[in-house]
Amino acid sequence: MSSRPLLMIPGPIEISPAVQAAFSVAPPGHLSAAVIEAFGRSIELMRELWQAAPSSQPFVVAGSGTLAMDMAVQNVVEPGERVVVVDTGYFSARMAEMLRRRGADVAVVAAPPGDAPALADVEAQMPCKALFSTHVDTSTGVRVDAHALAALARRHGALSVFDGVCAAAAERFEMAAWDVDVYLTASQKAIGLPPGLALCVASERALAARDALRTPPMLSVDFHAWRPVMQAYEARKPSYFATPATNLILALAVALAEHDIAERVEAHQRTGEAMRAAWRALGLSLLPVRPELCANTMSAVCYPAGLDSALIGRIKARGVIVAGGLYPGLQATYFRVGHMGYATTRSEMIERTVQAIEDALIDAGHACDRGAGVAALR
Ligand code: PMP
Repeated sequence: MSSRPLLMIPGPIEISPAVQAAFSVAPPGHLSAAVIEAFGRSIELMRELWQAAPSSQPFVVAGSGTLAMDMAVQNVVEPGERVVVVDTGYFSARMAEMLRRRGADVAVVAAPPGDAPALADVEAQMPCKALFSTHVDTSTGVRVDAHALAALARRHGALSVFDGVCAAAAERFEMAAWDVDVYLTASQKAIGLPPGLALCVASERALAARDALRTPPMLSVDFHAWRPVMQAYEARKPSYFATPATNLILALAVALAEHDIAERVEAHQRTGEAMRAAWRALGLSLLPVRPELCANTMSAVCYPAGLDSALIGRIKARGVIVAGGLYPGLQATYFRVGHMGYATTRSEMIERTVQAIEDALIDAGHACDRGAGVAALR
């Protein structure tokens, strides 16, 4: 075992040596040739990974995923407008709270933890200005049917916004083909960087929605403040509105270019399926209540009878860091394992993770066959 523990939480995650090398330099200025090129290239590559239309606008802003969520909320919705939130966990609830603070009239369509609301229940809340969903809610490991939700929004003339923080560049998502309006994420997830960048792509329709607002967004997240900067960098020209995270921009261009979207989706699907096979072999059950709800980017694994969160410490003692539960009220009943980004291309990292969990389970008294987890994984 190497001395540094493996970081297998649902973000931040292990990153590639090439990405690490790219940001491990003395801070470049935001008007330097290297940053201008990396910024421009990143914007082009985001359209490719998002499978977004040429007319769409990618935004890269210093901040976390929460800032990207606020950016989406504030630019497409204004006070008094009716919106619908598909609630599959902790992060959907955060989106609903942001929308309330924007003064929107928020209808929440929730499901029991581990489930997703039926499409008919979402449809019953139409019409609305915009439909907000969390592609993968990191608190439950539940993935919604983004294609179906996007189609439903379109049928009812609503904008569709997806929080893809635990899904973008990993789960299948075709922004242009599905006619989605905003898809957002953060750098520390499947994109494969350290934390620090908020990323989002807005459709032409979303940009028009911003143009039509009577109550402008907070300046720091305003599409109107940022779009000229993004356009300038894409044209390989210097620009400034607020200082970008220059080291991370250098690394972003490297991370986005590492694999195309088909390779990324395939690697996450393969890894997600292998992980679920390992959990089954170890006699563990998952929080998502049906197989089609299971994200490929992470697993929310229930503690077997008699075990509790002390298991996380036992796993860490074996060199792997996993995360505790996050869904309010259920935190003590499950743990979360991230399997996204670089690790999905490194089978030894995935095996080390399953091995550490298996050993910790056996050590804690859980009855399972030694070697069953890794055998199933393979
Ligand atoms: N949405 C989802 C689905 C997330 O998983 C997270 C972070 N775990 C966020 C939003 C918020 O992102 P951040 O912590 O980078 O602000």
